[in-house]
Amino acid sequence: MKKDAQYFETVIIGTGFSGLLAAIGLQKKNNHDFVLLERGADIGGTWRDNSYPGAEVDIPTGLYSISFIPYKFKKRYSPQSELLEYTNYIIDKFNIRKHTKTKQSVTKLTYNDSECLWQVETKSGEHYNARFIIDTSGVLANPKTPDIKGAESFQGEKFHTAQWDHSVPYQGKRVGIIGSGCSAAQVVPAIAEQVDKLTVFMGKAQWIIPRSDRTYSAAERFITNLPGIRHLKRLMIFSYHEIRFAAFRRYPFTSKITGFIKYLYARTLRKNLEKYIDDEKLRQHMMPDYELGGRRVIPSNRYLPALSRDNVDVDISGIESITPTGIRTKDGQDIPLDIIVYATGFFAYSDMKKALTFDVYGSGGRHLNSEWENEAVSYKGITVSGYPNYFKVNGPNTGTGHSSQLCYMEAMVNYTIKAICAVKRDNTIKAIDVRSHIQSEYVTKMKNTMKLTVWQRSNCSAFYRKNMTGEVTSLSPESVVNFIFSRKWFRLKDYHLLK
Ligand SMILES: Cc1cc2nc3c(=O)[nH]c(=O)nc-3n(C[C@H](O)[C@H](O)[C@H](O)COP(=O)(O)OP(=O)(O)OC[C@H]3O[C@@H](n4cnc5c(N)ncnc54)[C@H](O)[C@@H]3O)c2cc1C
Repeated sequence: MKKDAQYFETVIIGTGFSGLLAAIGLQKKNNHDFVLLERGADIGGTWRDNSYPGAEVDIPTGLYSISFIPYKFKKRYSPQSELLEYTNYIIDKFNIRKHTKTKQSVTKLTYNDSECLWQVETKSGEHYNARFIIDTSGVLANPKTPDIKGAESFQGEKFHTAQWDHSVPYQGKRVGIIGSGCSAAQVVPAIAEQVDKLTVFMGKAQWIIPRSDRTYSAAERFITNLPGIRHLKRLMIFSYHEIRFAAFRRYPFTSKITGFIKYLYARTLRKNLEKYIDDEKLRQHMMPDYELGGRRVIPSNRYLPALSRDNVDVDISGIESITPTGIRTKDGQDIPLDIIVYATGFFAYSDMKKALTFDVYGSGGRHLNSEWENEAVSYKGITVSGYPNYFKVNGPNTGTGHSSQLCYMEAMVNYTIKAICAVKRDNTIKAIDVRSHIQSEYVTKMKNTMKLTVWQRSNCSAFYRKNMTGEVTSLSPESVVNFIFSRKWFRLKDYHLLK
């Protein structure tokens, strides 16, 4: 091990909500010997980085918030600014800043078998040793930009939604947005009124559904934050989304509900397309030809009206190339642009090389990045056989296609803290390593369950769709209730005990 390395019992990588949850969980168990390493200049995660105009949650904040940290949110669907405020509120409330080192981009983790310790290296040359690693470096944290011919020749400004350049004014400019997923559906209505001309280079159709957003009055904020009422409200939002899961997963007794939910969403979308989209060809293009849920459902009341504005055009022919002055489409048009915005999403487990931001060398020099290149596997989405005392929050098969990711993250962090406490309780145990047959059984179960979901069956490719082996490894095929309960108890017997 490096002699000049700083030692912490636990190193947490990343300071998004899951990093904060891990820090809180350790403190609650009276473990204060930990550090959070963050590559950014400030603490934050998703809501620090995604500050593009219109950025907001697509699940009501009553549920997209930490269950035990209430906050008087002003809106049902909070904008990025409010989520960042909430993040900072948590950081201050739990005194997390003093445990954090920013501008510490982790580049390599190496497990030392003889000492049962992890060595952590960062880009700036710092070294840390730790007994436990909690990897909360995020899944949707690394922007994906497509390779488009001529992109480098563009003389205007171009950036990804997750790296929005606020020094570039878009007001009165000609803006092109590449993509048609969740981020595009939020940016388009947010800037359409202020730009001179907006061109949306639209990819696949999306399931766009209406939502009931509103701003709460001061009295409502007070009442809905009273303990019992807050829990009831959370339960109601939770139940609604959990019932909606029936549309994504085939259960024996829910085919009627599933059919009904799908019928309602399809009818509503068709009606809204007729109301807002005049062009017959575009209307047809925008009606998904894949099952509801094959891509993340977009709840928005503002996207379709924005597309119907006179200064907004939609291209569905596809991009031929980027030119010095704009974008050339496949149907031969040259669209002049001042700014190009990539609303093109993130690397997920479908491209492991780019989704993992550092190398992980486990027991005997095993290399997680190479092992996960074809298929990312783990036990409960948290531990990986051959990588002792390494806990990954939001590992394979833990993303949600229907509810709040924070519910999943709380369950994974709770499991991790229980595991760490169990190891520490027994002085003879130095580390734990999940048994490979337990992991294999779990992976097989996930694959079989996934076959019952729309994500595996759908004929559509989304960021979470399929990895090299054809499996869906980003999303969880479980309902939230199932996900939480299957991680509620930590069983030491699932693990080899390294002494
Ligand atoms: C634009 C956007 C909108 C979303 N909206 C929703 C929503 O409405 N509902 C929902 O349920 N989910 C949503 N999600 C999913 C979202 O990812 C989770 O909800 C959640 O915020 C993830 O938290 P996290 O802590 O796991 O990761 P993140 O918030 O991504 O944090 C990861 C942190 O790790 C840091 N990091 C990464 N690599 C390194 C490294 N090598 N060294 C040091 N630090 C590193 C990053 O800088 C970042 O701060 C959204 C995601 C995005 C990107």
